[in-house]
Amino acid sequence: MQLMPGASEDTIRILEERAANLQTGISSVAEKYEDMAEFVGQLIGNHPFAVHEQTKVRFHCSCSKNKMSDTLIGLGENEMAALMSQGGAEVLCHFCNESYRFDLDDLKTLQEHAAKGE
Ligand SMILES: [Zn+2]
Repeated sequence: MQLMPGASEDTIRILEERAANLQTGISSVAEKYEDMAEFVGQLIGNHPFAVHEQTKVRFHCSCSKNKMSDTLIGLGENEMAALMSQGGAEVLCHFCNESYRFDLDDLKTLQEHAAKGE
């Protein structure tokens, strides 16, 4: 949602209050309302509004094994050594629950890269 120039402080305050009062998360909102315009109408009450564009949104996580590698390196040398002594690590993405498996060789490679500052 985008406020148009000239929106009053009152309008902003009311919208913020309504948004805060929403009991449900956006995903259950999406299930409940087939038409988002209907939901927006309920959110902003009798304020006039225009729908400029409707886009189907789909959750897409941008995680990758590469990004997880950075996370692992970020844990520091001691953590890396601990993981290596366990023979590997499985890293779970907090956002999409995708799991990435790092075996001992993977970890060694990471550590070498980290040591070289790459
Ligand atoms: Zn992810």
